[in-house]
Order: sequence, then structure tokens, then C-alpha cells
Amino acid sequence: MLDNTLSSRLPERINRLYELAHNIWWSWHPRGRDVFRSLDYPLWRSSGHNPVKQLSEMTGGKLLAAAEDPAFLAVYDSVMASFDEAMQKSDTWFAGSYQKDFQGPIAYFSMEFALHSSLPIYAGGLGILAGDICKEASDLGLPLVGIGFMYPQGYFHQHLNADGWQEEIYQQLSFQEAPIRPVLSAEGQRSIAQVRLANRSLSLAVWLVKVGRVSIYLLDTDVEGNTAEDRQLSARLYSSDPELRIQQEIVLGIGGVRVLRALGIQPVVWHANEGHSAFMGLERLREKIEDGKSFESALSAVQSNTVFTTHTPVPSGHDVFSPEIMDKYFADYWPSLGLEREKFLALGRPDSRGQAGFNMTALAINTSLKRNAVSRLHEMETRKMWQPVWPELSLEQVPITYVTNGIHVPTWISYELVELFEKYLGKHWPEKQDDPDFWKKLLDVPDKEIWMIHRALKSNLMEVIVGRAQQRWLDGEVTAQQVLTMGALLNSHALTIGFSRRFTGYKRPALILYDTERLKKIVNNPWRPVQIIFSGKSHPADLSGKYSIHNVCRIARDRAFQGRVAFIEDYDMHLARYLTQGVDLWLNNPLRLLEASGTSGMKAGINGVLNMSVRDGWWEEGYNGRNGFAVGANWESASSVEQDKEDAESIYRLLEDKIIPLYYEQDRSGVPHEWVKMVKESIVSIMPNFCASRMVKEYTEKLYYPLVGGNHK
Ligand SMILES: *Cc1c(COP(=O)(O)O)cnc(C)c1O
Repeated sequence: MLDNTLSSRLPERINRLYELAHNIWWSWHPRGRDVFRSLDYPLWRSSGHNPVKQLSEMTGGKLLAAAEDPAFLAVYDSVMASFDEAMQKSDTWFAGSYQKDFQGPIAYFSMEFALHSSLPIYAGGLGILAGDICKEASDLGLPLVGIGFMYPQGYFHQHLNADGWQEEIYQQLSFQEAPIRPVLSAEGQRSIAQVRLANRSLSLAVWLVKVGRVSIYLLDTDVEGNTAEDRQLSARLYSSDPELRIQQEIVLGIGGVRVLRALGIQPVVWHANEGHSAFMGLERLREKIEDGKSFESALSAVQSNTVFTTHTPVPSGHDVFSPEIMDKYFADYWPSLGLEREKFLALGRPDSRGQAGFNMTALAINTSLKRNAVSRLHEMETRKMWQPVWPELSLEQVPITYVTNGIHVPTWISYELVELFEKYLGKHWPEKQDDPDFWKKLLDVPDKEIWMIHRALKSNLMEVIVGRAQQRWLDGEVTAQQVLTMGALLNSHALTIGFSRRFTGYKRPALILYDTERLKKIVNNPWRPVQIIFSGKSHPADLSGKYSIHNVCRIARDRAFQGRVAFIEDYDMHLARYLTQGVDLWLNNPLRLLEASGTSGMKAGINGVLNMSVRDGWWEEGYNGRNGFAVGANWESASSVEQDKEDAESIYRLLEDKIIPLYYEQDRSGVPHEWVKMVKESIVSIMPNFCASRMVKEYTEKLYYPLVGGNHK
């Protein structure tokens, strides 16, 4: 099981490559990837930027040569020194202000963690947030442990067939080639803990992934002794089968608590990222009742150190299980809480009206003390949605607060901008990333310097897109026509709009195609061409999302659009980095009030890509009139049909009257000064307010610290 072979194959001089490859930290240190790139560039590429796979495929001869290559050793030594410094740093932000009040870690439960594209255990924004929180916790010295799943097939890979329909491809991940290590029980067993699933007992194995100083424990049901079906339970993310979902959620919530106990980890704060993991509250209730507490005092003890973050105002985003399913899985559990059926089911009800169905968000609310939404607007929507839990309180009094999402800057910023920051702001800029005044220095950077960096990032993106199309063509899997819809005709000088995110109804992925005749005129202007790059997956069961993808592809292959609309397959973190760094304009047009926060626009914003977004989620806080563009107004229309029409009109008008003229007003060396002014304003205003550093500090101060007895300042 242990890949001792790999560590023993490494020459002694460079044997810490094993440790580096098994810590995601390498991916967010600006020179981390250089170690693996310079080791063997072709293998680095063909391994999918997966150092563990790369190392396992390198020949002994090449490894020996590297161990004697002074150029390689210089990179290796310098990165390892930074690694040791980061791992041992004792004067962290957390150590300075909070450490003495925390007697144990924060346990962070999440169905998905997006850490790196080589570990595909995430689907979208929720996972990105969880991953970014873990990375930032490491940077700030916050003691956090994650609990999640090690899905061998993860989320699917997306291919489009010749007719432009999404096909889902599940690839089996080789665990030997993933940056994870098995965790064994004290007796040396694979099985760490057990949970009951209806009539049977299930054993859980655990994998450890290191994210800098943070450990994430990933649960796996593929253990000897489990039934063949149960061994598959953790194979994939987000099944639409309610039985599979509840089984996974029992494993995550109840199993997760038992695994932490078995490992001797004693959290002082428990954080449920979304309702999926809310069963953890039940298990901790059970423990306390077993210790002799009454139900009431056990419940308040559980609440007293539990945080719950809700991420969506869309009703289908909240799991509700039927009473029949609850009976099947919990009939032998609720007696251990000293409860009757009715009282047990009431824990998953938002109000006293006796609705059928057990709502995981209601359970999470009922078992936590601190609850938060993920933006200011979303806080109000969440209060409206859950007010029935507190019928006696007004909306303003509903005890749900907000912490606006943020992004882990070292993960999402381009290497080119890191160099610029180091030059103008100094090497220690990451420590100041949430200081608004600090960033103002960037306003003095010459326009041309910023613009040259942007141009380079844009051509990187085009290269990646064309390279992918070419590879698919070489593999003999696609027709020539498909290659054209994959961006083969894109022009790196044209104003380029990016729209990349999950394809699902409320995000209105095809809104910009609302009036195709008008759009044609916009994109086809020979002097001021515009192109649009789409990318994103649709949940396998989301037929309307799949239809939108098909619709985009239909336009992409329409000769009348001249190859200026493209759909790039298989959106993931890797592609997201290129897109959010390389397009000119980042389009986001959800139906207002339905996008809780959104984070991709923040990634774009810190890289100087201007946002054009509906004033929803984070953008309602981020938009200042000078750092991007607001689509529509900050109120809602009478109907969604009406809203689509108005917002589409707003997008076209912004493009025609403002954006295109601004972008193409370039001086003789091709620099659009007014545009660059906005680019700088985008970086300077978005960086300090939407970096994960600001977010994780806020979680600590507002939500975690009060739960360990501290006073929120
Ligand atoms: C950032 C990111 C998301 C979240 O995008 P939103 O626009 O906020 O929905 C989803 N998927 C990937 C791969 C990302 O990198």
C-alpha cells in the first residue's frame, strides 16, 4: 500500500521530493512547480502536472542525473528551504492573537475539497471554497483539520460529442499516483471506524492529504469486508439517488466524527460546510447523551461549538430526505439520542408546521450556534428563507450572519503578476494582501508594464486552448468541425469574454446569446472583433444545463459567428486558472439573488481581468463603479422572463457603448490607457477585500473565537 518504492528510489540528495510531492503546498508556492518542471518537463506535462505520478514514472537514471545537476539542485534547495520555513513558522497571524485560547483544532467538514486539478475530488465553487480555506488556514497558522471523501472516480470528465451534447467520462484515479497517504489504525489496520447503514455495518478507511500545515482526512468505503456495493459508495461525487446521498452523508457526518475520535483528534470547534455534513451534529449529540447528559443539555453543548455555513438560496441545493428514508437509516439511531420518532424528525424541520421530509440545512441550523451566509446579499436571502425557524424574530434579528467568500491568492494569481508585486511591493506582499492601503502603490505602475503582462497571459490562454483542440484532433476523437468549436479560430488580439462555471439554470449560461442577430454584429466587427469563450460542466441529471451547453455549441459551429464563439471542454481548476488570468472580461449573469457569492470573478479581478456582472453575490460588495461593469440594476424585475430580456439588453448596451470603445482605444504602442486604469483599480480594490486572508481572519474572529470563549472585537 505504502509507496515505499517511490521514496526508496529517490537518490538521497533529493529524497525530500517525496514529501514535497505529497504536500499540495508546492502548488501555491511561486517556485514550487519549477522543481517538477525542471526535473523532467515532458513528463511533468504528460502526468497532468501531478508530481506523484511524474516521480513514479521517472527512470532511475534521470533521478540520479537530477541529483547531480547544479541547476536543478539550486531550485530544489531553495524551494525546500521555503517549505521548511512555511511549515515551521511560529510567528503566524494566528499565533500572535489567538493561539492561547484554542486548546484544539477546528474540524472542517466538507463533501468536496478543490486542492489541485490532479486530485479531482471536487465539482465546483463549494469545493473551491473549502480548498482555499484550508490553504489559507495553513498560511495564517490556523489549526484546522478537514474531513471529506476520497472519491476514486471523483467528478466526471466532460467530453462533447459530435452533436454538441455533454458526455460524462469517469476515470479511475490510481491512489498510488495521488498525493495521499493511507492512515492506519493504532493496530495497523486499514479500517479506522465503523458506521451503521440500515441493516449493516460499514468499515471506513482514511487517506491523508497534506495542505501545507493542514491535514485533510479523506474517507473511503472501499474496504475489505464491506459489501461490493458499499465499497463503491464513495466512488463518485454527488449522486442524484437519494439513498446513495444519505449513505454518503451518514459516512461523512457520523463516520467523520468517529474517525476524528479514533485518531485522537479533539476539535474545539466543528464547522459544517453546507448541510451535507450536518449528521455530524447528531453523532456528537449521541456521544454526549451516552455520557449521561439530558437531550436538552447535550443539544446546547453541541450547538455551543458548532459553525454552519450555507451556500445557496436555490431550494434544490438543500438536501431533503423523505420520512421513509429517514426511518430506514435512523430507526435504530434515534433511540440512542433518547428520542421518539417525531421528536427526532423535528430536528430536520424548518418550522412547526410538520412538513414531511428531513431537511439537512434545518438540521445544521438546529445543531449550530453560529451560522453564516457567504455574502451580504445572501445573508438577507438566507434570513428570509429560514425565518420560519424563529417565528418570533424579525428578519433583522434572525441569527444568521455573513462572511463574504474569498479566494486563496497564491493559488489563483498569475506567476507574472507575482513577479510584478515582488518588484513594486516587495517580497512580503502576501502578508499584506488584506491591507487596502498597501495595494494603492500599484496604481503607480506604468500602464505598459501591466498591459504587457496581460498580453502574455492572454497568449498563454490561447496556446492552451489551441493545444487542447489539437490534442483531441490528434487522438482521433473529434471531427474537424468540432475542433473549430473548441477555439481553434480564436484571435489573441480580439476583445475576449470568458464565461466559465457550472452550466445550470439560474446562472443563465446562454443569456448573452439572447439576441443572436445583435450578438453577431458585435462579434463580427472587423475592426473591433469580440470573442466569447465558454466552459463548464453540467450535473449529469441537469437536463436544462446540458441543453444550454448544446445551445452554445450550436452557435459556436454556426459559420455566421466566424469561429468567435468557443466551448472548451472539461472545466477544472487548471483551466480556470488560465481563463481567469487570460481573458479580458469575465461575464457573470445569474438571476439576481440566486448566486450566493461566486468566486471565479474574484480570481479574474485580482488578475486584472475586468468583471461584467449582475449585481449579485460578491459583486454587489465588490463593484465600485471604476473596477468593472454592472449588468442590470440592483433590483429585480417582475418576472424571470422580463429579467432575462432586461439583463441581455444591458449586456449588449454595455458592450456596444462602453466596453468595446474603451478596449479598442489604444495608443500607438497598443496600450488602452483608460482600460488599464480600470485593470489597476480592479486589482487594488478586489485583492484586499476578497482574498482568503480577509475571509479566514473573519471566520476566526467572528465565528470561531467566540465559541472558545473569546470576545469578538
Ligand atoms: C472558481 C471555480 C468555480 C466557482 O465559479 P463561480 O463562478 O463562482 O461559480 C467553479 N469551478 C472551478 C473549477 C473554479 O475554479
